[in-house]
Amino acid sequence: MPAVCLSLHADFVCRRSGPCCTSGWPIHVESDRWTAWREALAAGRLSVRADKPGDDILFVVPPDLPPGAGAVLRTRASGACVFYRENEGLCAVQCGLGHPALPAACQHFPRRCLIEADRVAVSLSHFCPTVARLAFRTRLVPAAVLAPSALVRHIALEGLDAREALPPLLRPGVLADRETYRAWEAVALDTLGLDIAPESALARLSAFTEELRTWKPADGSLRERFDALVAARPDSSGGGAGPLCPLDAYDLARASVPAGLAPSRLPEGLRAADAELVAPAWPAFSRPLRQFLAAHAFGNWCAYTGRGLRTVVRSLEVALGVVRVEAARACAEARRPLDETLLLEAFRAADLLLVHLADPTVLAEKMSEVEGPSAVSLQPVAIETPGRRPA
Ligand code: SF4
Repeated sequence: MPAVCLSLHADFVCRRSGPCCTSGWPIHVESDRWTAWREALAAGRLSVRADKPGDDILFVVPPDLPPGAGAVLRTRASGACVFYRENEGLCAVQCGLGHPALPAACQHFPRRCLIEADRVAVSLSHFCPTVARLAFRTRLVPAAVLAPSALVRHIALEGLDAREALPPLLRPGVLADRETYRAWEAVALDTLGLDIAPESALARLSAFTEELRTWKPADGSLRERFDALVAARPDSSGGGAGPLCPLDAYDLARASVPAGLAPSRLPEGLRAADAELVAPAWPAFSRPLRQFLAAHAFGNWCAYTGRGLRTVVRSLEVALGVVRVEAARACAEARRPLDETLLLEAFRAADLLLVHLADPTVLAEKMSEVEGPSAVSLQPVAIETPGRRPA
C-alpha cells in the first residue's frame, strides 16, 4: 500500500533535536526488544552512564502494560529517557544496537498516520522542532506526494486504522465517498497554498464545504456536485459554524486532555499580550501559519472520527486558534513581539496539545458539535499508539 506525505514534509530528516527523548513520556519497549536489550546490557554491548544513584534502574514494569510491551523506559528527573546521552544528544540504544532495536514509539515519532484502505497518509507533528522549522520554508506549496523511503522505511506505520471504516461523512447521517473526500482534501491544501491570510483561507474552505454539504442524492452524484463547485469555486466566506475565538479553541482542546495530563493553565493578561505583541506581527506569518494548517488538513483523523466535513474544517479552526493562544503565551513570557522563534515554539506547543495530549476521540466528539444536533454516525476505527508515547 503506498504511503503518502505532505510535500512540505517529504525531505524530513531527524536532526536529533531531542524533545522526543526528554519530554518525560512513558515509552513502552516491546517484549522482544526488551529481552535483546537486557542481553546486550549483560554482554556489555549496551551501556548507560550512571551519574547518580538510581541511574542504573533502566526499566519499570507496571501491572497495566498493554499486550506486546515488556517494560516502560525509566526517565530521569529532567524528563530525559535513561538511554538518552544528554551531553551528546544521542540515544545509547541507537548507537549500540542500531535503529531496528529502538522501541516502535521512538522509531515512529514524529509521524502521525492515517491508514486507509488504499494509502497510508503520513503526517508529522510540529512538536518536533525540526518539523516545526519546515513550516517556515517559502518555496513549496502543500500537496500530497508519494512518501520517500527515508520517511517510512524500517518503520511499522501505526495510527488511526480506517481500513475497515465507512467512508468519511459529508454531514451527520450522509456518507461521502472516499474519492470525493480525497478531492476535498486536495481543495483544502490548494486553498491553504493561496497567498492570503490563514483566516481567509479557512473562510474560503468553509464556504466551499458548506456548499458541498447541502448535496442531496436527488441532485445527482456527489462527485458531479463537487466538480461543479470546483469550477465555480466560491471564494467568499459565510455559512458554517462561524469564527472561533482562539481562547475558546484552546479551551476545547484542553478539555479533551485526559485527567493527569492537562497542560499548565494560561497566564493572566493573555488578551493584552495578543493585542500588543501578536496581532501586529501576525499577518507577516501567513505562509507558515497556512503551512501548519496544511499539515493538519492532510490525513486528518476527523474525517473518520468526526461527524462530517464541517468538523474537519472546525479542526483547522481549532488548530489556528490554539497556535494564536500559544503565540500570545510565548510572547508574554519572552516580553517581545512575535517573531519566527516564538512562532516556532507556538507551533510546537500547539501540536503538543492537539496531537499528543488531547484524546483524539474526545476532541473529535467536541468539535463535531458544529455539525448540529447529534446523529448516530461515529465510525468503527481503531487508534493504535506506537509504544506508549502519545500519538
Ligand atoms: S530509547 Fe533512545 S530514542 Fe527512545 S526515548 Fe530513549 S533515548 Fe530516545
